[in-house]
Formats: sequence, structure tokens, C-alpha cells
Amino acid sequence: MVENSELRKAGLKVTLPRVKILQMLDTADRRHMSAEDVYKALMEAGEDVGLATVYRVLTQFEAAGLVVRHNFDGGHAVFELADSGHHDHMVCVDTGDVIEFFDSEIEKLQKDIVKRHGYELVDHNLVLYVRKKEG
Ligand SMILES: [Zn+2]
Repeated sequence: MVENSELRKAGLKVTLPRVKILQMLDTADRRHMSAEDVYKALMEAGEDVGLATVYRVLTQFEAAGLVVRHNFDGGHAVFELADSGHHDHMVCVDTGDVIEFFDSEIEKLQKDIVKRHGYELVDHNLVLYVRKKEG
């Protein structure tokens, strides 16, 4: 199973809750899920994993580099698998939906701005807070 080898690679013992939570992050429609989202999805799938366990496992996954945690304003922390390349995020202020995007012009612009200030870019985290346009 992919999940089992990924856990071992990350130096984590294979336990049922870890496998179930990793599977859920991997197969859910949403790529960005809060601990509560994961907990609810597991419950709906008939899996008996407590919320405290979900929190603990997600924190372990984060420490092991399996998932990335985002603390977007005005919401719970959300987690996504660390398996995709660099991207930035939009967060809908009404629904909390998270939209991923990548724009090479923005990427370049950021590097240019940093350079102009005499630095080199090490990392960045761009979050746009958005609202669906009506009509
Ligand atoms: Zn993302």
C-alpha cells in the first residue's frame, strides 16, 4: 500500500489511524482540510478515529514533512499533502473554500522586488482573500 510505505519513509510507524488519515487526505475531493474536516470525513466513512487522534496525527505528519499546515486568517488551520509543487492560495472569505493557483509572472515579480531590496528570495507564502463576484 502506498500509504504504508510513505509512513515508513517519513520515519513513522504504520498504525491504523495514521493510514486512515493519510488515505483520507489523499483521496478526498478537497485538497485542503482542517482537522475537523478530516474527522468528519472519517466518521462518514464509518471509521472510528477520535478528533484528538486526528489532531495528534496531523501534527506528527507535519513534523515528518508529509503534510503542510496553513493558518489562513479567520479560519481553522488546514492541512494538505506535501506532494505537490509550489503554489499559492486564495481563500473565500464567505465559504472558506481554498483555491490553489500558480502564476509565473507573480513568482518572477516577487523575486525582482526582493532583489531590488538587496536580498534573495528564500520562500514565500501568498494568500489572497477573495469573495465570489455576484452575477
Ligand atoms: Zn495548496
